[in-house]
Amino acid sequence: MAASILVVEDEPAIQELVSFTCTSNGFEVQRAESVAAAQQAIRERLPDLVILDWMLPDRAGIELLRELRGGERTKSLPVILLTARSAESDKVAGLDAGADDYVVKPFSPRELVSRVRAVFRRRAPEKSGEALAYGPLAVDPARHEISVDGKPVKMGLAEFKLLKFLIGHPERVFTRAQLLDSVWGDHVFIEERTVDVHVLRLRKALAAAGAQHLVQTVRGLGYRLSTRAEQ
Ligand code: CA
Repeated sequence: MAASILVVEDEPAIQELVSFTCTSNGFEVQRAESVAAAQQAIRERLPDLVILDWMLPDRAGIELLRELRGGERTKSLPVILLTARSAESDKVAGLDAGADDYVVKPFSPRELVSRVRAVFRRRAPEKSGEALAYGPLAVDPARHEISVDGKPVKMGLAEFKLLKFLIGHPERVFTRAQLLDSVWGDHVFIEERTVDVHVLRLRKALAAAGAQHLVQTVRGLGYRLSTRAEQ
């Protein structure tokens, strides 16, 4: 359930520090020490965020960043650039290439974690590890608890993950394919109608607290979480 972070860094001491900082804050970490190793790791499994060093032994991290932004599967993957370069022109180049943030070495572990959380909050709130609320709903990922008007509601793991994702993006309509990718992960081959089954179960679980109307079907498109009247 923890969000996964790919740490791409060739200096062992910094790789260790970044990895330790992330794991001790509840994130799951994969490591790579070159652009090639990072590409391989991303091909196998799409992480939720990448912490990317600029100076890597085979190629520049910023080239990998541009590649990620150009790929259909990776274009919206959050990336934080990590680098010793602090010149303003480098920061601008990094952000122009599509970095979500830019951390200059030496950095404090606490600062790095707060930047990771800030990027998640902006791009994928359900992965920040923080409690989320919308309307009468609240999700506490740490306690693995969902409540409606403060009263806990029980549901299965798949329904929990689905609602956690939706509450991070309220009012937005997601297709079944988008939900499969975001909630079940890419490279997972599940039929789209499986989403319908879990939406039904989620509504059933929420119905116990009278909140089933929040999970809405948008005909011809998909599903959304909304407090507005159903369309
Ligand atoms: Ca380096």
